[in-house]
Amino acid sequence: MVSSSFLRQLFVVLVYVSSPVALAAAARKTADLHTEPGPAARKSPSEKAAGCRCVALTFDDGPDKRTTPRLLDILSREGVKATFYLVGSRIAGARGVVREMRDEGHEIGNHSWDHRELTRLSPERVLQEIRSTDEAIEAATGARPQTLRAPYGSLDRAVRKDFKRPFIAWDIDTLDWKYHSVSRITATVLSESRPGSIILLHDIHRTTVDAVEGIIDGLRSRGFSFVTVSQLLHPKG
Ligand SMILES: [Zn+2]
Repeated sequence: MVSSSFLRQLFVVLVYVSSPVALAAAARKTADLHTEPGPAARKSPSEKAAGCRCVALTFDDGPDKRTTPRLLDILSREGVKATFYLVGSRIAGARGVVREMRDEGHEIGNHSWDHRELTRLSPERVLQEIRSTDEAIEAATGARPQTLRAPYGSLDRAVRKDFKRPFIAWDIDTLDWKYHSVSRITATVLSESRPGSIILLHDIHRTTVDAVEGIIDGLRSRGFSFVTVSQLLHPKG
């Protein structure tokens, strides 16, 4: 008997193995440090494997003192828990925002220290990128992140082998860093979401925050509920 938790973890691993070369190539084309290229089309786990009609909203590249607090207010008002993949070098300027994330029950993950492409760094430098971000998050929240996310989704076996914690990919790329359009971001999420989907967004963009309320309403009306990444990987029961 294969457990649904196992299937979900397999999905997380598989999506990284599927197209690292394409991801790296796409990453090099982008000039903005805080952007993510669109990964190749990826399969979501089946509804049966997901165990519930749940999705995880993930917000990368913050914290941002200008945009993240408004997002936290919206999530609080809606009663939605999300997952934030933080860039370590940004934490010192927004510790209060990070503590608010923790206090509101959101999951906080590690998105490296300064958003470099990990596959192009030495193993020592990769460890430093992750460790220093762990330390900054732990100093702000008192807890070490349980999940990691590679900048640009760029990952290979050499990077992965040094970590016991999972690197988390996504199956829905809103391209919100590229198209600053509330209607486009919302339409992408609503048309592509499946049970078990992990949705990539960036809380450093005002238009993304503007889109969140509509995304939540739209997904709820389609019967979805919201969980953190770790809840998706390790559902209770
Ligand atoms: Zn990023």
